Amino acid sequence: MEELVSLCKRRGFVFQSNEIYGGMQGLYDYGPLGVELKNNLKAAWWSSMVYDRDDVEGLDASILSKPSVLKYSGHEDTFTDPLVDCKKCKGRWRADHIKDKACPGCGSADLTKPRPFNLMFKTSVGPVDDGKSFAYLRPETAQQIFVNFKNVLDSTSKSMPFGIAQIGKAFRNEVTPRNFIFRTREFEQMELEFFVERGTDEKWHDYWVKKRLRWWCEQGIPEGRLKLFDVPKEDLSHYSKKTVDIMYSFPHGEEELEGIANRSDFDLGSHTKNQTGFEIHAKVAENKESTAKLAVQNSKDKSWEVPYVIEPSAGLDRGFLAVLNEAYKTESLDNDKERLVLSLAPHLSPIKAAIIPLKKNNEDLVALAKKIKRSLQSLRLGRVVLENSGNIGKNYRRHDEVGTPVCITVDFDSLDNNTVTIRDRDSMEQESVPIDSLENMFTNIISK
Ligand code: ATP
Repeated sequence: MEELVSLCKRRGFVFQSNEIYGGMQGLYDYGPLGVELKNNLKAAWWSSMVYDRDDVEGLDASILSKPSVLKYSGHEDTFTDPLVDCKKCKGRWRADHIKDKACPGCGSADLTKPRPFNLMFKTSVGPVDDGKSFAYLRPETAQQIFVNFKNVLDSTSKSMPFGIAQIGKAFRNEVTPRNFIFRTREFEQMELEFFVERGTDEKWHDYWVKKRLRWWCEQGIPEGRLKLFDVPKEDLSHYSKKTVDIMYSFPHGEEELEGIANRSDFDLGSHTKNQTGFEIHAKVAENKESTAKLAVQNSKDKSWEVPYVIEPSAGLDRGFLAVLNEAYKTESLDNDKERLVLSLAPHLSPIKAAIIPLKKNNEDLVALAKKIKRSLQSLRLGRVVLENSGNIGKNYRRHDEVGTPVCITVDFDSLDNNTVTIRDRDSMEQESVPIDSLENMFTNIISK
């Protein structure tokens, strides 16, 4: 993990947040390359979950959430971790992280009994901080999807099965944020809430588990590094009928990358008005505040029914860490040297190509390199950079380290015969290619 963290800082993927004031635990900032990788991962998810389908629509809802949303969702009562204090070192730990009844900080056995600690952040709303008008920072993106169910349905005329997808920030006051960006207090989720008729829920749950597993493989994670974990009944969240977690072997151990839950009719059943007018199977609290009917007509007998929900919920930051971890390699070279290379899938690479004039500031070479940069950039396949530093070897090394799939060198031959040298990141092979075939070649490499 240390090597990854060091690369992330050195090359501008991830920085400690608020660093110049001593940093803040559980918060990270994504730098120039990090934001590109993150955006590429989001785009791959959005393509697969929204654009490639006709049964899913997107949403970008507010982060600040009215307390009623999180009251009826069950979060006010149940979104807690059991917390233990060490009386000796004053450390605070999640009870399930304590091993052998000893404080993980100082080893003392003088610990308090576990007590529930709500993970939601609160903030006051409006000019008067009287403790009454407050909002929560959403602890998951899902709830805003449920409360927008009728809006999306009415505005898109979708019929079941259909889904609503959202990518966005979520906030949890984690007791022990740790393992770099694996467990943080502010993170991003990529969530789909897929609404299905009761009775078809188990089939759809299986479908989404398989589909999501395949998607992670397409992001460069070998299937052998992923595992499906059937969450035991006693550990299921209050809303879940069944949950399968996709587990990945992170550098610190095997942990959850994504959870795929069958949330039954709990969510829409909790947030709908006129609850007694429907046959709701989940145990929901009485709701007299909601103003919307969150139900649809059954295709067979036209009765009104509260849909079941299948939720694939992926952590973007955990995905970022996983693809980076898989891509990170050190290779021995013939000359007893080593190179560090990030073999990212080209669609995820923060920089897609570097154009390097052989000689720094040579007018003709730089002009041609700029022309090539403009032409490849205009394909809108991602970032293409011009490297006018004149040191080819250094540029190759830097771009290997940040995962750039190709480097294109413009030399004096290029001016005479309209060819450039294209170097492949993984094989390090170099090939001379005509400039007028570059656009096609580049498109094929990035879209493969
Ligand atoms: P964990 O058991 O690891 O705390 P969880 O079961 O509480 O996770 P979910 O509520 O299912 O997580 O959230 C869905 C996804 O959001 C997780 O699979 C994970 O990828 C991501 N996630 C959850 N909590 C965090 C966090 N504190 N930091 C980064 N990502 C997170």
